[in-house]
Amino acid sequence: MTVTSRTRVGIVGAGPAGLMLSVLLARRGIESVIVESRTREYCEARQRAGMLEAGTVAALRAAGVGKRLDAEGLEHDGIYLQFAGERQHVNFRELVGRTVTIYAQTEIVKDLIADRLAAGGVIEFSASSVAVSGIESAAPVLSYTDSAGVPHEVACDVIAGCDGFHGIARALVPGLSAYERTYPYAWLGILADAGPSTDELIYSRHPDGFALYSMRSPEVSRLYLQVPADESLDAWSDDRIWAELQKRFALPGWSVATGQITDKSITPMRSFVAGPMRHGRLFLAGDAAHIVPPCGAKGLNLAVGDAIVMASALSALLLDGSATLADAYSDTCLRRAWRATQFSYFMTSMTHVLPNDPFDDLAQLAQLRYVTSSPAAATSLAENYSGYESPKFES
Ligand SMILES: Cc1cc2nc3c(=O)[nH]c(=O)nc-3n(C[C@H](O)[C@H](O)[C@H](O)COP(=O)(O)OP(=O)(O)OC[C@H]3O[C@@H](n4cnc5c(N)ncnc54)[C@H](O)[C@@H]3O)c2cc1C
Repeated sequence: MTVTSRTRVGIVGAGPAGLMLSVLLARRGIESVIVESRTREYCEARQRAGMLEAGTVAALRAAGVGKRLDAEGLEHDGIYLQFAGERQHVNFRELVGRTVTIYAQTEIVKDLIADRLAAGGVIEFSASSVAVSGIESAAPVLSYTDSAGVPHEVACDVIAGCDGFHGIARALVPGLSAYERTYPYAWLGILADAGPSTDELIYSRHPDGFALYSMRSPEVSRLYLQVPADESLDAWSDDRIWAELQKRFALPGWSVATGQITDKSITPMRSFVAGPMRHGRLFLAGDAAHIVPPCGAKGLNLAVGDAIVMASALSALLLDGSATLADAYSDTCLRRAWRATQFSYFMTSMTHVLPNDPFDDLAQLAQLRYVTSSPAAATSLAENYSGYESPKFES
């Protein structure tokens, strides 16, 4: 027999967007239910982003989930850009008065889940047959089957589609326009038990391909190599990965500290923006509506930003009966998504090598020299990387 219940906001997906939305709504006294197809363990262990804009850090703090972030996050003043045998620092603090913070997406997800469950919030993990209906009415329904096989129907005021790129929500928006760019390369990423050999991220453009040196904690490094889009992980032994990393980051007197590789994956690269991000009582957020290549470190920050904008819009709609912010939701989010999309494309195109393209090689080097020597160009990079027009959450 189907179990029926009611909540104000039904949320599909317990990624950063859905969890943050649920936390922010709870702060404003609005009840929600999250339905997630994966297990809690899977969601908490999924290796993804790790670089937080200043506005994302401020929002997590304002939402009351910044305690561990403040204790364990690594604040960085900027990034290094390496090319043609040089390593140059771009100092965001000096250029735009903002910093960025390393704190893994896995940890944000753990913090948000813990906060919701401690407050009695409902997150239905391992749900199947998740479906949404009635989004053109004032009473949409979120239905699913729970992990014990029991079917549920949750009557809602609003549904939030926070179910990532492969979710079900985006397809429910009629007349959706989607804009896409694929790239001829992917990122081979590793997680290694090795203390970082650098104090801040290194974006290295090497003639054999791009490499990124990132970290998750003082004990764990996260490193990436540009590989062809159709590359197989089987072609990359641990020894080959370390040798390639040493080569692409090589500088006299400096080397990459090695250690046990604990995770290895290949991520394809794509820019994708779809809109409108709202239809009737369905609102999309995060990767459900837009994805960016990870070079600009924007995906997670955009997801959190959408959740902040949606929480304000839904508060006005559900508590005050004002539809002004809800009506502006899609345009507000898409404007920021397109800025991040262009910046991510810019960072990717400036640093990733195309085979046999000497024109592109020389144009990239000219651009890298420009952003590391011109204060105007460096300021533009710093302003975008550290977060341009980040939405604020007022607690
Ligand atoms: C492999 C990978 C690596 C990445 N690396 C980086 C990086 O290094 N830096 C960076 O900034 N960004 C990175 N990103 C992007 C960043 O992690 C995402 O932008 C971010 O996770 C978006 O959050 P979200 O909540 O919108 O979506 P997600 O994190 O994808 O969450 C969506 C949730 O919805 C659930 N779901 C899906 N379908 C259903 C359904 N039908 N019913 C119920 N639940 C469903 C999923 O299981 C998931 O938990 C990466 C993304 C991927 C895929």
